[in-house]
This record gives sequence, C-alpha cells and structure tokens, in this order.
Amino acid sequence: MPFSLHGIGVSRGYAIGRTYLLERNQPEITEYTIPDAIVEDEVQRFLNSLAVARQQLQDIRLRIPATAPGDVTAFIDAHLLMLEDVTFTEAPVRLIRAHRCNAEWALKIQRDSLVQVFDDMDDPYLRTRKEDVDHVVRRIWRILLAEDPAYLSDPAYAELMATRLEGRIVVADDLTPADTILIQHQGVLAFVTEYGGPLSHTAILARSLGIPAVVGARNARAYLGNDEPVIVDGRQGVILVGLDERILRYYRHKQQEERREQRELNKLKGQPAVTRDEVLIGLHANIELPEDAIAVRDVAADGIGLYRTEFLFMNRSDFPDEEEHLASYLHVIKTLEGKPITIRTSDLGADKQVDGGRGGPVCTNPALGLRAIRMCLKDLAMFRPQLRAILRASAYGPVRMMIPMLCSIHEVFQVLRLVAETKQELCDRGLPFDENLPVGGMIEIPAAAVCADQFARYLDFLSIGTNDLIQYTLAIDRVDDEVNYLFDPLNPAVLTLIRHTIRAGRRAGIPVSLCGEMAGDPRYTRLLLGLGLTEFSMHPNNLLEVKRAIQDSDVGVLNGIIQRLLRTTDANQYAEILKGIAQN
Ligand code: PEP
Ligand code: MG
Repeated sequence: MPFSLHGIGVSRGYAIGRTYLLERNQPEITEYTIPDAIVEDEVQRFLNSLAVARQQLQDIRLRIPATAPGDVTAFIDAHLLMLEDVTFTEAPVRLIRAHRCNAEWALKIQRDSLVQVFDDMDDPYLRTRKEDVDHVVRRIWRILLAEDPAYLSDPAYAELMATRLEGRIVVADDLTPADTILIQHQGVLAFVTEYGGPLSHTAILARSLGIPAVVGARNARAYLGNDEPVIVDGRQGVILVGLDERILRYYRHKQQEERREQRELNKLKGQPAVTRDEVLIGLHANIELPEDAIAVRDVAADGIGLYRTEFLFMNRSDFPDEEEHLASYLHVIKTLEGKPITIRTSDLGADKQVDGGRGGPVCTNPALGLRAIRMCLKDLAMFRPQLRAILRASAYGPVRMMIPMLCSIHEVFQVLRLVAETKQELCDRGLPFDENLPVGGMIEIPAAAVCADQFARYLDFLSIGTNDLIQYTLAIDRVDDEVNYLFDPLNPAVLTLIRHTIRAGRRAGIPVSLCGEMAGDPRYTRLLLGLGLTEFSMHPNNLLEVKRAIQDSDVGVLNGIIQRLLRTTDANQYAEILKGIAQN
C-alpha cells in the first residue's frame, strides 16, 4: 500500500533506493547525590571526559579528506571550540560542587539552559545551532557512561563503518558532523532526518554534496523499515513508500529529466544573464563561510552580493580580532580572482553564544531588539576591528561594505562617521585601503523601504533583504512554524516596497540589488524583473536556474504587467495577473 511521509525538502533531486535506518539512542540520564568526600573525584571524572571528547574530535578531524567540503571541517572545529568554552569547562564543574550531583546530571542542567537560550533566539541559523550543543553533550555523556570509551567503539560509528552505505538512503533522527564525514565517502543516495531545518548540518552538507535531502520528517523511523525501497523527493520534501512499478517508472523518468536539465543548466555558465529584450542582469552569490567562495567561482557568478560575516563570531567566547577578519576576507578575495565582494557587517542578534558573553539579558522579542547594526553601534569594541579589516581588505580587491537592518538615516550617519574615523586611523598606521570603498545598506525594515530616497542619497548602493522585509512588513516571525503559511513574498505591500526601493535607487543613480531567498527562487524571477530589479544575489546553487529564467524573459512586457498588478484592487484579478507573469 503506497503512502508518503512529509518533511522539508532542503536539497533538491530525486533518489530511488533502499533505506538504511541509523539508530542512535539518547542515553538515559538520572540524578544521584555524590558524597562530600568524593565531589572532587566527580569533578575530575567530568574533566577527564572533556579531554577524551577533545581527543576523539581531533582524531575525527585528522580523518577529514582534503576533498571534503569546508563546512565539514568547520563543524568539527566548532565542536572543538565549544569544548574549550567556559560553558562546558566551568559551568558543569560549578554545578557538581553546588548540587553535589553526578557529572551527567550537571551536564544535563547546563545543556537545558543553553538550549533554552538558543530556543529564544530569533535568528534561524543560530537557533539551529542548538544541535551543536546536543551533539557535544551527547558525546560527553557517552564517554561518562562508558558507552563510548574510544572513538571506534562508538556504536553509531562502528555501525556506519561496518556497513556499506553505497546506494542507500540514510534515515536518522539527526546527523552529527562526525557522522557526515563517515557517510560522505560511502556513496549515500539521500538523507532523511527527523529533526533539523533548512539550515541544519544535514541540509548544508547535502547541498554541498549535491544529493537530495529531506529534514524534519518527524517519526520517519517509526514508519520506515530498514532496507525498505523508498523514493526521496528533495524538492518537495516527500518520502514515498510502498512503491509499485508505476510510481517507480514515473520517478525514474523524473530523474532522467533532472540529469538532462542539469547538463543544460551547466551550459549557461559562460553565458551572460541577458533578457530577450537585451537587458543585462547582474547575478551575484551569497556566502556564509570563506570556503563557500569556491562554489561562487564554479558557477561563474558576477561576484558576491552578500557575505554574511556573523558566522565568524559563532561558537566562541571572544570576538574575532582585526587580523582574523582580514584573513577571512583575503581568502574570499583571492578565490574570487578580481570579482567584487560585498561584505556585510555582522548581523548578530541578542545572543550570548556569539557576543562573547557580553550581551544583556535575553529580550522577549529579539527580532525587534538589539541586533545587526544596532548591536554594532552599541558595542564599538566589537565593530571597529571589523570596519578596519574591511577597509584594509579593500586594498587587495574590489570590496564593498554593506550595513544590515538600517532603520533610520541617523544610523547611516553614525556608520559613515565611524568609517571616516577608521580611514584616518589606518592612514596614521600607514596601512593601505580603498579611499572610495562603497558603503551600502540593506533595506529590510519597512521604515527604510518607505524612506529609501533618503538612504539612497547618502549610500553608494542598496540591497533589499526580503527575508526580513517580509517578516517586518507582514508581522510574521520568519522562524515561527505556526505562522509560516502567512509568509508571503507576493503580498502587494511587499512588492510595493520592493518597487519603491528600486525606484529610489534609480533616481539617485545607485545600484539596487536583492539578496533575500526570493532572489534565488526562479518562480519570482520574472516578477522581480518586472519590478525593475537588475541585480540579484542568491545561493550559488540557484544561480543557473535563475539565469535561464532571465534569458527567457522580456523586461519591457513584464514592466507593463507589473503596473497593472500593483494598480488593481481586486484580489482575483491580482491572482490572475500573477499567473500571467509566469508566462512572460
Ligand atoms: C534578508 O533578510 O533577506 C537577508 C538577506 O538577510 P538575512 O537572511 O541574513 O537576515
Ligand atoms: Mg536580514
């Protein structure tokens, strides 16, 4: 009897194969009281477990082949850093002494409070980083419980090592970075996990490896047998079970189509993104880590339109210093071989993990709180080294600086003053920089979009962050599943603000790009062209599909349709016109 399971499709493609159920049970943690005389022994037992965990991770790190995606090493390094952090080295020790409890229980108390902090965060990426806490905690628990005295005797890893995963679809509750290192050499066809979102390790790794993946398929392991034939549709987020010949034929056909399509898309790499009526469109890429720049080069993007530098601040108790910032930027500049790079200053939220423990109390509504440029302007000790590094990097290649979450023009004035001061500082130190470094701003708060003319007068370029612009315009928390159905990029208010911003840029004679998820979704390409957009920035994997849509569009015709779209007050007509846009 065929049936389907549903999750979130995070890496597109179709896989047809047999499941491999990865069982990894959560250790049972109970509390017991430690007699006074041996409390210090318990502390030592905990500290020893940290040392073993560090050794295990260092061993795993050595096994990472040079060909592995940069993400993989970054995940292991992040876990190693966590093991050096006071949240793991000191807090549980204090708890053991204060409560006279066993090390496992102290770690559980600490884990629960850390997870609570992550749950309260508004940034979707940082929220998913609680997975890292769990992966590290589970590793220490297994060591404490003597379930994992040495890396190779870890049941999960041993099981993975012993099994040939080639041609299998791995189904797990969640995958740790260490799992993925072992898995990636086994020729896995697809991943299905019960937990995680589009920004989880599994999703990131699957996209780097280019294999289909579905995450958040709750209870998948309860419904799927081991070695069961299934189909994974990584685009729709569906797992099909109980396959008959008809379904198999259909999906084999889809697989062939997809391979053919990828071959066709690859042919577009050397071609310009020009519309049928000869409008040249700029296609840039978004990156998070310096290593991501390789994918940007591979897909022949025009440059980097959004480098999210906040990832440099993560999983550590101190801030990156000027030299560390500079080294990351220089790495990207070198990889891009002369193409422009837009470095966004840090877009951190009210988050203890990434601000070196100096943030204030967790606020009740972090999306409206101290984040991004607000936080930078408040904490100049954190902001200035980044400003210096961006300016210094500009001596080595075409760099632009971009400010996130601008809300008022006064923030722009403050930033420009700081940039001027930083230039003077560098002059005094005799360090070179681009005197004309372009400084641009993100338009992602409705107030900034409405007053885009003002911003355009003082800035060198604008970039529309639709992920946040939609959130704030429609009052929908972008990470809240309950209201996700209302997150609508096609809402007329959103489109009006996008068009208004593009026009403001045009009037001021400065470039306007769009770097939210909308830019990389080919369903919206024509709509954005019709709104007047001439620069897109997106995940490199989406770039060729968007280029194809551009080559297939006529901006002149689309402009006319958009005029009608934004004039109509009739909801049915609005939907009809939107449908028409897809065909032009
Ligand atoms: C956006 O808000 O659209 C954006 C690109 O920034 P981020 O997703 O990093 O908030
Ligand atoms: Mg944003």
